[in-house]
Amino acid sequence: MEIANHIHLLEETKGSYVYVILGEEPVLVDTFFPGRSDKVIEGLRKIGLEPTDIAHIVLTHHDVDHVGNARALRDLSGATLWAPKEDLPLLRREQADKGFRRVIKAMMKVEVPEVDRVYEPGMRIGNVEIIPSPGHTPGHVCAHVDDVLIAGDLVTTRNGKLKPSPGFLTYDKAALKRSLREVGSLRFDWICPAHGEPVQRGNLWDALIRP
Ligand SMILES: [Zn+2]
Repeated sequence: MEIANHIHLLEETKGSYVYVILGEEPVLVDTFFPGRSDKVIEGLRKIGLEPTDIAHIVLTHHDVDHVGNARALRDLSGATLWAPKEDLPLLRREQADKGFRRVIKAMMKVEVPEVDRVYEPGMRIGNVEIIPSPGHTPGHVCAHVDDVLIAGDLVTTRNGKLKPSPGFLTYDKAALKRSLREVGSLRFDWICPAHGEPVQRGNLWDALIRP
């Protein structure tokens, strides 16, 4: 599904959507559940790409459904793998997760990827502006391209409604609130979450952050 010019959602990754931004340096945002790189590759081929066409793989955060195929896809593509610095100890399992995440990580084995580079404040990767948005995890980022926000797990959608990342998966609730306000100050028309279908912004974001 083409969200906007050059920005695609890979429908094969329903459940934890992967997005692709075309351009001189094509960018893949997130990598789906572990062991399912075939789904990502199938989605890429539908839009005329091979894994080797991908220049950058951008991870929004360390959760298994986002980093699941990072290692396999990095190996296949030769792309540069990017991740948030604050999430690295969790991604590398040097730091233990809390609560429900501990259960999920025990259930789903992920091949820990080698991260090539970490985000720096205010940076762009290809056409993509990286927006720090901590809360769901310590280093969560969104990807902002033109009038599209690829939201990772900052928000989810269901039946056209917008919700913040669920509380039981929130690492820092105060940080999440701040991130929602800050990201809301950006200009975008489309909200593209990992979980749920893309929605047009309208007044949805304002309703979300209203006190
Ligand atoms: Zn998550």
